[in-house]
Amino acid sequence: MVDEISRERIENCVKTLVGFHTRHNLSSRDNPAQGIGAAWNWVKSEMEKNIPASGGRLEVNFEEYTVGGKGQRIPYTVTLKNVVATLKGTDSNDDRKILISAHLDSRAQLDNDSTSFAPGANDDGSGIAAILEMVRIMSLRKFPATIIFMAVTGEEHGLYGARHMAAKAKNENWNIIAMLNNDMIGNSGSSETILNDNMRVRVFSEGVPAYETEQMAALRKYTSGENDGKARQLARYIKETGERYVDQLSVTMVFRNDRFGRGGDHSPFCEQGFPAVRICEVNENYDRTHKIPAVVNGIQEGDLPEYVDYEYVRKNTGVNLATVANLAMAPYEPAGCGIVVSGLTNKTTLRWEAPSKGQKPSGYYILMRETWQPLWEKKINVTGTEVTLPYSKDNYFFAVQSVDAAGHESLAVFPGQSRRSASR
Ligand SMILES: [Zn+2]
Repeated sequence: MVDEISRERIENCVKTLVGFHTRHNLSSRDNPAQGIGAAWNWVKSEMEKNIPASGGRLEVNFEEYTVGGKGQRIPYTVTLKNVVATLKGTDSNDDRKILISAHLDSRAQLDNDSTSFAPGANDDGSGIAAILEMVRIMSLRKFPATIIFMAVTGEEHGLYGARHMAAKAKNENWNIIAMLNNDMIGNSGSSETILNDNMRVRVFSEGVPAYETEQMAALRKYTSGENDGKARQLARYIKETGERYVDQLSVTMVFRNDRFGRGGDHSPFCEQGFPAVRICEVNENYDRTHKIPAVVNGIQEGDLPEYVDYEYVRKNTGVNLATVANLAMAPYEPAGCGIVVSGLTNKTTLRWEAPSKGQKPSGYYILMRETWQPLWEKKINVTGTEVTLPYSKDNYFFAVQSVDAAGHESLAVFPGQSRRSASR
């Protein structure tokens, strides 16, 4: 699947999006050639082309929401649309959802400038192109879990489209196991230096979760689990899986929810308690972001398609695809993971239960690392639901993953304390 990602299609998609002149949230909604309305209609029709190949499992819908009003960043009430493609899982008992998102809207300098040329080639045409490639390739395959591809609007004015989806997911009690927000994945050069880097991509993940109940906080303190929230486990999974499938690219984990003091479309999902991360280029070019295209002091400003590194977008799409496909094929996570604490020993006994839904795992991986390490260092395959390892729980962190016979791994579950006493 990763090999099928087309750099040429990505480039064509970005250029088509730029051709809508602006995708500002207050731009025209009925002009067939320009504005956000033309853009969401085009994205919807592109997604719909994959319905026959999916055997009818792919569904494409507009998700409408109303925002704005006097005194707000959007100064009057307006109805905006997200485009949402749902590739239904082949197992009707599988309620897991994996979300992948990018934003369709673009902007120039001023909040309410809805008519200037706002190409948004990299921000976030690159993310939308990645989504369209994934819908095309993944609709041909079958996955037990459901995959939801989202082209959201309202981002540039306050993450409105993503907020709407996160609230809907919460209200409808969606079982979201992962949410990947792709915002700016195609710029490889920095604005200040000659540094050019399309060999690394950043994954931002929150540390202490934005959504944390008193009970969750108590467990976090008890287990010293401040570096082991669900978003952080997802980031580690993306690094391991992405680097396994995509050559010439390393995943740089950034241990914060987003860039300094900033947020993105994954943030509303974190706030609702879902595991959500942001995938983003390593270098940003501020001459190009949110600028009206013009030559200023000899520098071409503006987010133009000729500055997108399409090979970089292709590789970053591969990281996304490899992650989503592996998660969608993997067994459910193990349940009730705990470390047995009865009796003093320098060994560690871990216990868990097989997941009650979906395919039965062929086995489990115990992950372990020293407490000061960012990444899992050892991976031990076991077939039962209890293991005693000759390593002290005082000196290592552990986690448990379900795995199927083909090697598809669930996200890692960080254990609490096992309530039962050791059987031996
Ligand atoms: Zn953006």
